[in-house]
This record gives sequence, structure tokens and C-alpha cells, in this order.
Amino acid sequence: PLSPAQKETIYALSTPPGRAGIAVIRISGPQSERSMKDAVDGSHRKDLLPEPWKMHRSAVMDPETKQVLDEGLSVYFATPKSFTAEDVLELHIHSGRAIISAVLSALSKLPGCRMAEPGEFTRRAFEKGRLDLTQVEGLRDLIDAETEEQRRWALGAAHGTVRDEIEALRKDVVACLVLCEAEIDFGDTEEIDEGLVNKAKGRALALIQKLRMHLQDSRRGEILRTGIRIVIFGEPNAGKSSLLNWLAQRQAAIVTPLPGTTRDILEVSLDLGGLPVIVCDTAGLRKTQDPVESIGIERRHREAERRASYEPPVANRLGTEIGPLVTPDTLVLLNKIDLASESASRHAKIMEEVSSEWYWSASLATGEGMPEFVEGLVRVIRQRYRTNGKGERRSMGEPMIRHARQRVHMENAAEYLEAFVRCVDNDEGRVDVVLGAEELRYAAREIGSISRAVSVDDVLDGVFRDFCIGK
Ligand code: GDP
Ligand code: ZN
Repeated sequence: PLSPAQKETIYALSTPPGRAGIAVIRISGPQSERSMKDAVDGSHRKDLLPEPWKMHRSAVMDPETKQVLDEGLSVYFATPKSFTAEDVLELHIHSGRAIISAVLSALSKLPGCRMAEPGEFTRRAFEKGRLDLTQVEGLRDLIDAETEEQRRWALGAAHGTVRDEIEALRKDVVACLVLCEAEIDFGDTEEIDEGLVNKAKGRALALIQKLRMHLQDSRRGEILRTGIRIVIFGEPNAGKSSLLNWLAQRQAAIVTPLPGTTRDILEVSLDLGGLPVIVCDTAGLRKTQDPVESIGIERRHREAERRASYEPPVANRLGTEIGPLVTPDTLVLLNKIDLASESASRHAKIMEEVSSEWYWSASLATGEGMPEFVEGLVRVIRQRYRTNGKGERRSMGEPMIRHARQRVHMENAAEYLEAFVRCVDNDEGRVDVVLGAEELRYAAREIGSISRAVSVDDVLDGVFRDFCIGK
């Protein structure tokens, strides 16, 4: 039996359940070594542990009956050089339902061992300081990544790119704090040393500008992580469903629509040049009696009016239904050029007059013009989201925040810094360095919370909740 102070050993299947070549079962904690002795029959001598970090041929046995359950490979990671920084044993066995359940039930017989909860291995790695929260988030995003841009970004975050940027920002706040504390500790009690305080204020102002730049990113990073929504709208019969089907079939659809249902799909997730895009069909813009739908259309009309300065002549010439919906984010695709109808030539005239970046012509029947349209679409998205599609941040203008949790702390930090500036701003007549330093401490704590030092369990649960079991 385990004393409460002792840490439990956890185990879980780390590969997806079902039939496959191999399955990996991971065991982490103080009992990993014991599991190795009791449940693994290797070619090594029983009184010696096998060499760590090396694969060994081994049989997995029931620790009580000593019956062989499967034969495979095992590898032992000795603390602290393992994913969790604890002793870890990995069993590579054949992946079949009966084998997996036999091995898991054999492990449950070992004292002090229990099934791991989702994300619990990663949580232990975090608690041991092997990873910070941005790396944990990066790891989760890496597992969820469906496109190249997402994969590259997540891999960078998992390796600490976000952590390093956050740490640099935190150090900047601490530098301001050090200046203020120098003034508090050594300064003349009667006279404020304006030099030190002004220096701190200058640094804080620059830092606020930096944080605001990160925050004013229109949530592009979060959208890049979860998927960019594109809505197709147009007159009935214009070819909206055809466009959606064309994209679903010709571009890498992340979730392939079921065969036979393609006529009816309304939404498809695509990998467009490495970026995750969700394309939706509005299924026709018709005069509708449905109050909910008319609110939706109404809202888009108003939004369009708000941006009335945007090429109104073109928008007007697209017709009274479509024209008002055109915004600076709208790409216009003229379809059915194979028909050379009267309206087609009318539209072709419009297109000659306007910038080609936002206007395209194609035929969904013949496919003519479609590769160029898709290319243009990818280009426009990359510009709009300021990404090169490679998951890198090459300049300040590219989004860094990819999680709402990170945004909340950064927003708070900016507010505390602004409060600091108010405390030490001479124009307001009074300078309170002690109070200002307190604001700086709060600001540093908020930025620090982005990567660790979170005491509230709810926050941690939120970060680890979406992990799969076995990670
Ligand atoms: P929606 O009502 O906007 O969704 O339009 P659909 O995609 O259902 O297309 C309406 C009709 O136009 C269908 O019969 C399509 O086969 C046809 N269509 C779509 N694109 C083209 C095109 O480029 N050329 C021709 N000739 N017909 C097309
Ligand atoms: Zn349709």
C-alpha cells in the first residue's frame, strides 16, 4: 500500500485504440521500475534493470500469474531524463483490443499504479518544470495540428519560442521595477530622483506599446490556430455549391465529406497553402421569411454600409443584393465564363476597371481560372493574417498570441503598466513610486502567469483538459 505522501504511478495507452501494428503503453512514476521487474520478462538478468534509453526485446506478463500476454519491445527512461522527469517505462506491444486490455488490466494489479487522466503525463512534466504553460499549449496544438502552418507554429511553441518572448517581456518589467526600487531604497526621502523614475517610465511606455501591438492583432493568431472562416455568398444558381464541392474535391479537405453527400455539404475544412480554412455555403441569398436568417443578412448589410467608402461604384454595379455585402475582405469570383452570357460580359467590364487582386473569373464547369483563383485566395489570406504559411514570427507585426488565456494575462499586464505610468507621471503633480512599484509587481506577475506560476487549479485544469489520454 501507498502512503499518501508517495506519488502514484500512472499508466495509459498512448496510441489510439484499435487494430494497428503497434501500441505504446506508457507508465510513469516511482513504480515504473517495479513494473519493469514484475510485468516485463526481458532477456536481461532479473536482478538488474536493463540499460535505460535502449530498446529491449521483451515479453509482457501478468505480474500474478506470470502468463505471457504479448511479446514486443520495451524502453526504460530513468529519472530525470524522461518526458515527465520521473521514471518512465514504455511498452511497445501489438495493437489489438484483447492485448491492450490484458496488459492494462495486468498493470492495474501492480501496487500504487492507476490509469492516467487525460494530459496527466504532460501535467507531471509541467509540475516538474520540464515544460512551461506555453510549451504545454504548443504540445497540445501540435497533436491537434492539421496543416503545415499549424504544425510548424506548434512545434516552435513546444520548443519554447513563445516562452522566450514572454520571458523577455517579463524581464523588461522587472528592469522597470529595479529602477523604482533603487529610488525607493537609496533615493532621497524628500526629493524624488527624476532620473531613475523617468527612466522606468520611459521603459514602461515602450513596453506598453509592445504589449498593445501584440494585443491589437484582431485575434489573428487565435484564428490561425482554430481555422479561418470564409463564407460564400451570391445569387441563386451562381455556383456557390459548385465552388464548395470543387474546393472539397480538389483541395486538401481536412475532413473529407462522405461520398454521396457532396451535393448537400454546407461547410468544409480545407488545408489551403498550409492554412486551416473553413468554407461555408450560405445556400443562397434569398428574400427570406425566416427571422433569424433575415437578421443575419440585415447585419451583413449594415456591416457593408459601415464600410461604404469601399469602392462603392463596383459594389453597386454588382447588383442590389450582392453589392451591399461586399466589404474590403470580400473576393469577387465571376463564375460561368464558359457561357459568355450577357451578364458575364457585363461583369468582365467591371473587372477590367478594378484591381485584379480581389476580382477573379472562372468556370466551375471546366475548371478554367480556378487554380489562379485559389492561388489568389491563399495570397490574400496570407496578407490578411500576416503569415508566410510557415508558422514563424519574423517581425512584430505577425501574431504571437494564439490562446485566449495568454491574451487575458497580457491585457492585465498592460493595464498594470498603465497604472504605473499614472503613478509616476509628473504632469499629474504627484509622484508615488511606492505605489507604482506595486503596479509593476502585478504586471510582472501577470506576464509570468502566461508561462507558469499559476496557483489556481482551475486554470491548469483548463489547459490540460483537452489533452488526450496517454499524453
Ligand atoms: P448555387 O445555387 O449558387 O449553389 O449554384 P450551383 O452550384 O447549385 O449551380 C447552379 C447550376 O449552375 C448548376 O446546374 C451547376 O451545374 C451550374 N454551374 C455551376 N458553375 C458553372 C459553370 O462554371 N459553367 C456552367 N455552364 N454551369 C455552371
Ligand atoms: Zn447551392
